[in-house]
Amino acid sequence: MNVILFDIDGTLIRCGGAGLHALLVVMREEFGVEDPQPVPVHGCTDQGIVRELFRANGVTYTEDRWSKFMSLYLECLESELTRSKGHVLPGVQTLLESLSKQRDLYLGLLTGNVKRGAEIKLDRFGLRHYFRGGGFGDHHPLRDDVARAARKQVEEELGQKISEESLWVVGDTPADVQCGRAIGARVVAVCTGGSDRADLEPSAPDFLLNDLTECQAWLDEIQRGA
Ligand SMILES: [Mg+2]
Repeated sequence: MNVILFDIDGTLIRCGGAGLHALLVVMREEFGVEDPQPVPVHGCTDQGIVRELFRANGVTYTEDRWSKFMSLYLECLESELTRSKGHVLPGVQTLLESLSKQRDLYLGLLTGNVKRGAEIKLDRFGLRHYFRGGGFGDHHPLRDDVARAARKQVEEELGQKISEESLWVVGDTPADVQCGRAIGARVVAVCTGGSDRADLEPSAPDFLLNDLTECQAWLDEIQRGA
């Protein structure tokens, strides 16, 4: 059984800044921070981003504030996405359609988005039905921990251990490559998001693609391992 875990932002879709915009709107309108300072989001988890956003804007992190923030953020994200100029990235639709027809292949997510945020983003672009489970950014500030949670969830769902040669992570930042390595996965990196080729090369992914239209050699490799 091959298992492929996809990152979302910069790998499957671009949201035209809707996510960061929604974060800042909530800080301003609901948390009373007049001119909120943005924080890095590429390759980060929602838990990590909100902790850093609170710190950068003088808000003390508590579980209650995190819950309140996220419920407002998710409402805001939905409306921001309808206005944003987001799009599905090149090759994604064709690749998912093809992978979804293969037997003995599990398609999941490994994303820093909280689960509901991931659903909202994938629904916006009609991609949610391709994916089963995976790991999300609800509980872990660090992406490597999301990866460990994703592997555990998939193994529990399938009722079997995943062998390392049949586990793949696909992402757009060095943090995606690193978290793939943390769970013994092979990694495909794409230059369609937060990092370019020069950023990604040092992390030494197994495949480094300009975008997912270039996926044939990788698909051949998956077939060999199937
Ligand atoms: Mg990403």
